[in-house]
Amino acid sequence: MSSDTKYDVVVLGGGPGGYTAAFRAADLGLSVCLVEQGERLGGVCLNVGCIPSKTLLHGAAVIEEAREAETLGISFGEPKVDLDMFRSHKEGIINQLTGGLDKLCQARKVTRIVGKGSFVNGSTLKVSGAEGDTEVAFGNCIIATGSHPFMLPGLPQDERIWNSTDALALKFIPKRFLIIGGGIIGMEMAQIYSALGSEITIVEMMDHIIPPADKDLVQPLFLKLKNKYQILTKTKVTSIEATESGIVASFEGTKAPEKGEYDAVLVAVGRKPNTGNFDREKIGLELNERGFIPVNAQQQTTVANIYAIGDVVGEPMLAHKATHEGKVAAEVIAGHKAAFDPMTIPSVAYTHPEIAWMGLTEKEAKEKGIDYDKGKFPWGASGRALSSGAASGVTKVLFDKETGRIIGAGICGQNAGELIHEAVLALEMGADAEDISKTVHAHPTLAETFAFAAEIVDGSITDIM
Ligand code: FAD
Repeated sequence: MSSDTKYDVVVLGGGPGGYTAAFRAADLGLSVCLVEQGERLGGVCLNVGCIPSKTLLHGAAVIEEAREAETLGISFGEPKVDLDMFRSHKEGIINQLTGGLDKLCQARKVTRIVGKGSFVNGSTLKVSGAEGDTEVAFGNCIIATGSHPFMLPGLPQDERIWNSTDALALKFIPKRFLIIGGGIIGMEMAQIYSALGSEITIVEMMDHIIPPADKDLVQPLFLKLKNKYQILTKTKVTSIEATESGIVASFEGTKAPEKGEYDAVLVAVGRKPNTGNFDREKIGLELNERGFIPVNAQQQTTVANIYAIGDVVGEPMLAHKATHEGKVAAEVIAGHKAAFDPMTIPSVAYTHPEIAWMGLTEKEAKEKGIDYDKGKFPWGASGRALSSGAASGVTKVLFDKETGRIIGAGICGQNAGELIHEAVLALEMGADAEDISKTVHAHPTLAETFAFAAEIVDGSITDIM
């Protein structure tokens, strides 16, 4: 079957990148068809990523706060968790958001086709759905097929060995839970399952958890968790074996035990782009050496009328990168002068405490040989942090010595993921330490710590404690 309409744009993949591109293109007056193989729009982010993980993390935070309230003289007793209700609460939020996307498609007259899309040639896509195949003709196509979890090679087939999607399903609460990979996803899952009662072991190859962030930034989180979890850094898992009594993992690392037995294992060691399921060879689309689709600043691939956005074009694999790239692709197709050229893309680990960073880390600044000034403000000296039980936090800001401008910032503490955006804006606007320190911040707020860190650099604060 072939559709009579030739669309200005066909978007392949309905994740945050894909639906944003489709909506922007429709808003700009283009005819748009959105092809998604899943029944629900929203991709990884809404269905098995950002939103379900943050919903579960919120529940975990409530449990932790109820337990920690005892230190304030407030006692609720041990929290009881109804796992079915917790799971349905998460599903309800996913349904609400994905259902909202369907309505937005209808309102914009975006044609939605459910099925797996693959190229027939440079102007036709075949969509294979429950009711057979449909051919869709297009002027331009935006590939937004996203990514999937990378699983270590040679793992046994066993339902106790999980990827992030399995972990978010809350199938059961393992008593002994091994998490391979101490990055953002691994640490967020650790906090969810720890709150629900699992004993957590984390194995990380690098010398600290959440390795893209600076080690000193992650330290308050590490100190909070080190006596609660077994955290094995500089450690490799060398084999995994499924036995009746548990999953047995062997380790290689100076401080690691030789083996451990677990009731479930989460593999959280990264994600791979989805490039193998849409017959890209038929349009001569090559991949780069890391397996991503190469694009220019207009999100255009090496094939002129084919664009690509989101996880499939490279790191950082983050929803907000995908959405911004999606808007650029749609605008370029509509004839606008647009480019994806952010000075920074913020990263956030939604742990307790949160870790957020943007621009250059201190490690990167050193590696690049940049001469920088650093303002580091410990939250123990912030009235708001102390009164909110957040005194372990820290705000760090880096300024280029030569230009005086901000080049990077990191925050560890309550709401760091919200607070980091002041630094993002400062970087985009080319602010220096004085711009930040002389901007009046409300008192008492955690945002003040950003101004205080800048004051350390411009010399208005000399003594913190
Ligand atoms: P995806 O969201 O991967 O969507 C791609 C879509 O394309 C999918 O729906 C797929 O079904 C569809 N598709 C693929 N091939 C075809 C085909 N041939 N035909 C039709 N459809 C196809 N990012 C953040 O910014 N913040 C977070 O807090 C965060 N938390 C995360 C937590 C977890 C557990 C995980 C796994 C990820 C998280 N991410 C987070 C990452 C974020 O989910 C991704 O960066 C984002 O979803 C990428 O969007 P995308 O549009 O590129 O692709």
